[in-house]
Amino acid sequence: MSAGSASRPSTASILAVGSELLGTARLDTNSLYLTSRLEALGISVVRKVCVGDGWADLLAEIPLALARAPLLVMTGGLGPTDDDRTKEAVAKVLGRVLVRDEAILLRLKERFRRRGLEMPKVNEKQADVIEGAVVLANSRGSAPGFLAAAGASTVVLLPGVPLEMKAMWADAVEPLLARAGAAGVHRRTLKIAAMPESVVETLVKPVYTAYADVPFTILAAPGEVQLQFAARGTFEEASRVLDRIEADFHKALSGEIFGRDDDTLEGVAGDLLRVKGQTLALAESCTGGHLAGRITDVPGSSEYFLGAAVTYANAAKADLVGVSAATLERHGAVSEETAREMALGARKRFGATIGLSTTGIAGPGGGTPEKPVGTVHIALDAADGTRLHRRLLLPGERSLIRRWTTSTALGMLRKYLLGLADGGRR
Ligand code: ATP
Ligand code: MG
Repeated sequence: MSAGSASRPSTASILAVGSELLGTARLDTNSLYLTSRLEALGISVVRKVCVGDGWADLLAEIPLALARAPLLVMTGGLGPTDDDRTKEAVAKVLGRVLVRDEAILLRLKERFRRRGLEMPKVNEKQADVIEGAVVLANSRGSAPGFLAAAGASTVVLLPGVPLEMKAMWADAVEPLLARAGAAGVHRRTLKIAAMPESVVETLVKPVYTAYADVPFTILAAPGEVQLQFAARGTFEEASRVLDRIEADFHKALSGEIFGRDDDTLEGVAGDLLRVKGQTLALAESCTGGHLAGRITDVPGSSEYFLGAAVTYANAAKADLVGVSAATLERHGAVSEETAREMALGARKRFGATIGLSTTGIAGPGGGTPEKPVGTVHIALDAADGTRLHRRLLLPGERSLIRRWTTSTALGMLRKYLLGLADGGRR
């Protein structure tokens, strides 16, 4: 289970945390459930203790439990209040630090927002993770659990609420224990938007050459590049290796990696809009509604997406989003000036905080020497005064040009929301 041992542990100890468990009002039923599940896996419980929430008690009991069996399962004390200190105590005993995980923080805030509440400050500490531990998702509540390996020991931290504890055990811990020892191949995919494959390749080459024995692939999808790599071992061992490689790729590509595995660019941009309390409106020309299509593919997008005007004809650009006749006359429909006026017009027309626009020549016809097929202008206009513009010269045929355009626009939006610099001009 742990990094050091290859096989599933044969014994475990259980530590149930909660001062209420020491009184007469509350029975420690979590241990009974855990004992039956562990037995089913062929793991005998050799020690079972209830301990109060006190810091000194935790620091005294954890080492005793760890000394008795290679696997320690703990429940309780993962909540947001000051008396919930299980995570801190385990980190201290294992000599690890706690690190704030921004993705968990976003998810916690989202949980509260869905219930129409602002997340209280105290809950932020539930986004702190034990350095190097596997984070276990909580499908029934807010506090994530952990599986931390240290030398020959493995510590599993679960919530105290019985329903949450059982769900996490069944969903996350049992599969890991069942697989433990049976080393497998674990894969990870990192995703980059609207960057040519060759540019990505140049930037990441030093990273993957440094990990000579890690299988590595660069895959280009329209408007997106994926870095895929894999590591062998138990889930824990492999995760450690994959995390290290991922961190190196992030350094090499400063800010360009928008997500991993199942993440989508529209989903990531949508999460940011929601978390930042911003709203979005579009004016689309060459993408003909595809950008709105991608944004509304995300469930819950109605929280931040107000609407789009598909302004294909010049008259529509003028009537629906207020592009001036002079601009269209002087610069043409495919121009920086038109794109900027479309973004501003969309923002005003829909009353959004951000307007985003696309205008270009998707081909195969319609190109001229000054504006060849693949010329695209994208603009972003925000209520805070930010105005961004990018001009692209895209290769390929119509559907590819349209896909690249929507990915570039979403990538610009993401970077603006994260406060990252973009290749575009202000
Ligand atoms: P969490 O880690 O989920 O935040 P917590 O210990 O911080 O748990 P508490 O408010 O202390 O949360 O406990 C939540 C509920 O779960 C309480 O009703 C508590 O009695 C119950 N509970 C905690 N531990 C156990 C246990 N070992 N067996 C049965 N019930 C338990
Ligand atoms: Mg408790």
